[in-house]
Amino acid sequence: MTSIGSLLNATDLRKTYGSTPALDSADFAIHPGEVVAVMGPSGSGKSTLLHCLAGIVRPDSGTIGYNGRELSAMSDAERSALRRTEFGFIFQFGRLVPELTCLENVALPLRLSGVKRKAAEARAVVWLERLEVTGVAAKRPGEVSGGQGQRVAVARSLVTEPRVLFADEPTGALDSLNGERVMQLLTAAARDTRAAVVLVTHEARVAAYSDREIVVRDGKARDMAAAL
Ligand code: ADP
Repeated sequence: MTSIGSLLNATDLRKTYGSTPALDSADFAIHPGEVVAVMGPSGSGKSTLLHCLAGIVRPDSGTIGYNGRELSAMSDAERSALRRTEFGFIFQFGRLVPELTCLENVALPLRLSGVKRKAAEARAVVWLERLEVTGVAAKRPGEVSGGQGQRVAVARSLVTEPRVLFADEPTGALDSLNGERVMQLLTAAARDTRAAVVLVTHEARVAAYSDREIVVRDGKARDMAAAL
């Protein structure tokens, strides 16, 4: 698989849980600023693929290159630094910290990287504005709607301006109207910051926001553009 100019690439990735092959040969490359949808039925290996690419799960074999470096050659500390500084994450349920306000939640990744409170919160306000949820800044996650909470989670995932945003069913818990709006805001913000997005979804209407689709079936990932 050619990986010229790619940001993230996978070569012959395999991962087995017991006797279950979760991933069975995955090959593709993702370029800066691309929104790529990883599609496929439940249990086909989408989440395993996302976790391998993000350096959370170690594949049994195969290689993952990020920005010219091999993930498997990095130490655990290097991989977690990469996840904190260059990768962003968004999940089906926002996983916001319930004790913190929405503003503090968005500022948190910056605070954890050593940015002072005032500067971190100023950046967080900008991201709440971008996601059109400044009204919830002082509220705690338990006091906001599902759609608002997910927009706050998107703001938090992008506040560090990651180079890759990993999104696992980001609209799976939302009604279609809120889901569409989250996808519009998420993809617009990612395009503005040139973040690549790896979007796991089983919904065609969510995948419609991507530039390209990778289909996973029985652990085999196929780049639909390359297949044409
Ligand atoms: P998807 O995200 O497409 O629903 P997954 O990547 O979650 O698929 O799962 C792929 C296969 O691997 C499934 O058969 C699932 O049961 C299995 N699997 C995933 N994670 C684990 C795990 N931690 N332990 C055991 N089996 C797992």
